[in-house]
Amino acid sequence: MLNPARFPEPEHQTEPILGWRAWRLHRTEGGLRIVPTTPRAAWEPRAAVHATCSGAHTREYLVYNPELAAQHRSPMPGCTCGIHAMKDPSRLARSGRATAVVGRVAMWGRVIEHTRGYRAEFAYPSRMRLVCSWCLWYGRLPAVPDRVFEHAGALRPACAEHAGRPAAVGTRLEVGPIQQELLGTYGVEALPEESFRPLDARRPVDAITRLLRAFDRRR
Ligand SMILES: [Zn+2]
Ligand SMILES: [Zn+2]
Repeated sequence: MLNPARFPEPEHQTEPILGWRAWRLHRTEGGLRIVPTTPRAAWEPRAAVHATCSGAHTREYLVYNPELAAQHRSPMPGCTCGIHAMKDPSRLARSGRATAVVGRVAMWGRVIEHTRGYRAEFAYPSRMRLVCSWCLWYGRLPAVPDRVFEHAGALRPACAEHAGRPAAVGTRLEVGPIQQELLGTYGVEALPEESFRPLDARRPVDAITRLLRAFDRRR
């Protein structure tokens, strides 16, 4: 059981733990790449992502005690570093503008469990699918897209309803081939549409998401 009064302690996981993540999707010279919604490098295909700490602003004690930096291992209790993933896909709503992909992510090595998610030392996607950027923002899972817009190297899937949004610009592409290319690039299976449903139906939607959805429907 988690004690909210203390920083959760890391555990060493040899068997991967699964969490949920959303990414943006970019076309690079090397092909498609999933990119975190935070200012972090793209996840390279067929290579484990290794956590590093850039959270100097959240770990002021390192400024006062620089000798402690040598002992700082990502993810560190009390820091924000590590590869983040949520326990429940409904928490991916508003995880970033221009998100394009949702997936299950396998995490291992040093893993810290929090109330709503995990921070891990190593991670790699286990299953992925394209989602409508706008539906995901409003927490409307499974957010099935029916086209993809490619603009300046960024790919943004949209459902029919959201394809008219001002930001839905660029070359219009079909969903199927892009998703196949993405799965092939990373060597993973498609995330079934149904995987969102049980949790999404069980969890009452938070107030902000309800307001945003009401606003979205009026447009
Ligand atoms: Zn850190
Ligand atoms: Zn949509």
